[in-house]
Amino acid sequence: MNSAGPIRNIALLGATGSIGRSAAAVIAAHPERFKLRAATAHRHAEELLRLCEKSGCGVAALTDEAAAREAARDLPRGLRFLSGAAALVEIAALPEVDTVLCAVTGIAGTAAVFAALRAGKRVALASKEIIVAAGDLLNRIPTGEVLPVDSEHSGIFQCLAERPEAEISRVLLTASGGPFLNWSAERIARATVADAARHPVWEMGIKTCVDSATLMNKALELIEARHLFRLQPEQLSAVIHPQAVVHALAELCDGSVIAQMSNPDMKLAIQYALSAPERLAARPAGTLDLTQLKKLEFFPPDEGRFPALALGREAMRRGGAAPAVLNAANEAAVEHFVRGVIALPRIWEFAGKALEHCGDFDDGTLGSRLAAGDAARRYVTEQIGS
Ligand code: MG
Repeated sequence: MNSAGPIRNIALLGATGSIGRSAAAVIAAHPERFKLRAATAHRHAEELLRLCEKSGCGVAALTDEAAAREAARDLPRGLRFLSGAAALVEIAALPEVDTVLCAVTGIAGTAAVFAALRAGKRVALASKEIIVAAGDLLNRIPTGEVLPVDSEHSGIFQCLAERPEAEISRVLLTASGGPFLNWSAERIARATVADAARHPVWEMGIKTCVDSATLMNKALELIEARHLFRLQPEQLSAVIHPQAVVHALAELCDGSVIAQMSNPDMKLAIQYALSAPERLAARPAGTLDLTQLKKLEFFPPDEGRFPALALGREAMRRGGAAPAVLNAANEAAVEHFVRGVIALPRIWEFAGKALEHCGDFDDGTLGSRLAAGDAARRYVTEQIGS
């Protein structure tokens, strides 16, 4: 039934993370449409090599050099094996690959995404940090295309469906609200890493869990949406929707509102990013039964208890390197929170301070964005240390 369209030859960057595993499952479910040509991981050699053997993929890489040396001692026959950060770039531009799914943590996949676009490939992009830090620069590359994997952005993509810019009034991204939705500010100040990791709806890694708990995830997603769909900051807002069934809404110029809905499962967004504009007759998120849910709630985020959205808007307003600074400062602060060094509200505090003190040196190059991020990371680490 799904055999009509072209075969997509896929490189999966970050194959052993939460999104990477879901992507590998989606690819394996459609051998008539998707062929895994290359896969990478940071240091989970065993899982990566098992995936390569099962899928028959010909090229693999580990970005961690020590793990790569260890793994290189015993490789499956016929597998081309690469190592180090440069391997991501090489794999992203392989001639036998037409689609690169980037699910690498943070901004580590940035150079690979640029390389893939320059080589004219489709990039299914799950690493939102890359779009946050350099989305405007990605938009200047005339070749290739970026398709969203983030569920809200997949939702926007489906709501907008090539609609002319003039018809789009507003876009709303939903947020489940995270585990602290109904916690008081005092209680949030005492939240532990385990509290933050208890996400009510989505399954994901610890960094994303903390970002969801602070709503920084949504702040970064507003910036992501701005670049992916070339929207103005004032066209974008977030709405709390605990059921996490409506992923995004587009309000059109005549007042009509289009929503994209599904059960929350990343596999649907992954599948659509690979198959679009075609839809496959497969339901990795199952079938939505609204009568089971009984109610859908929407309310405005409490920006007093969750200052992240204001920080996101400020970074958008400043533009240039400010989003890269916000992202990197948040990353550094979250690392310290996860290690038990700072309380959760200090993530907002340090992200805000970094926005004030870093990132005035933007010359519109990727290098200056990465440098701004590095400066913000150093700034936060120094502030916490002092
Ligand atoms: Mg999301």
